[in-house]
Amino acid sequence: VEFEHCGFPAILGGNLKKAGYEAPTPVQMQMVPVGLNGRDVIASADTGSGKTVAFLLPVVVRALEKPAHNMQTPVALILTPTRELAIQIERQAKELVMGVPNMRTALLVGGMPLPPQLHRLKFSIKIIIATPGRLLEILRQKAVELDKVKIVVVDEVDTMLKMGFQQQVQEVLEQVSKDHQTLLVSATIPAGTEELAARLVCDPVRIVI
Ligand code: AMP
Repeated sequence: VEFEHCGFPAILGGNLKKAGYEAPTPVQMQMVPVGLNGRDVIASADTGSGKTVAFLLPVVVRALEKPAHNMQTPVALILTPTRELAIQIERQAKELVMGVPNMRTALLVGGMPLPPQLHRLKFSIKIIIATPGRLLEILRQKAVELDKVKIVVVDEVDTMLKMGFQQQVQEVLEQVSKDHQTLLVSATIPAGTEELAARLVCDPVRIVI
C-alpha cells in the first residue's frame, strides 16, 4: 500500500510525499481508516512506530472538512505530556498542512513564556497542541474556546498518568463539545489507562501494535 492510493485530499498526498513518507507504517495502516471513519480509538503504539502521523492524518483531514475549515475557533486538540513531544508533534503537523491556507497550529506548553502563546491564539487557530497544565491556565483566562473541537488526541496516556495529569486531562476535556471523536495513544496500556479511557472514549476500536 502507498499513501498515494489512500484517497487523501491531494494537498495532503503531496505533503506526505514531500516529507518522504511513501507507505504507511503498521500503526498508520490500522489507525488512519478507523480515525477517518469517526470512531474512537485506543491504540498502543510506541515512539518510532509512526504514531504521530497516524493520529495527525485523521486530525488534518477533519480540520480540512467544511465548515471546520472556515471556522474561527479550534477544531482539533492534541494533548501530550511534555513540551518536547508537543514541539515534535507541531513540527510534523506543519509538514502535513504546508500550503493549506487557514490551517494554523498553536503550541500551548509550559516551560515557555505565556504571552506569545496568548497572542498566537488571536489568529484563528485550527489545531492546538498542548500540555494539560498550560492549556488549563489559558482556558481559565478564557483566551481560547474548545466548544467547536471535533477531534481530540491524548498522546502518551501512560506518561500522562505517571506524571499525575489525569485530573487535568479530564478538566480540559470537560470543555470540549460532547460529540467529539477521541483518539487515545499509549506505549503501554497500564491499569489506570483503562479507568481513564472509560471516561474519555465511547465504544472504542482497539489497536495493538
Ligand atoms: P513517531 O513514532 O511518531 O515518533 O515517528 C517516528 C518517525 O517516523 C518520525 O521521525 C516520522 O517522521 C517518521 N515517519 C512517520 N511515518 C512515516 C512513514 N509512513 N514513512 C516513513 N517515515 C515515517
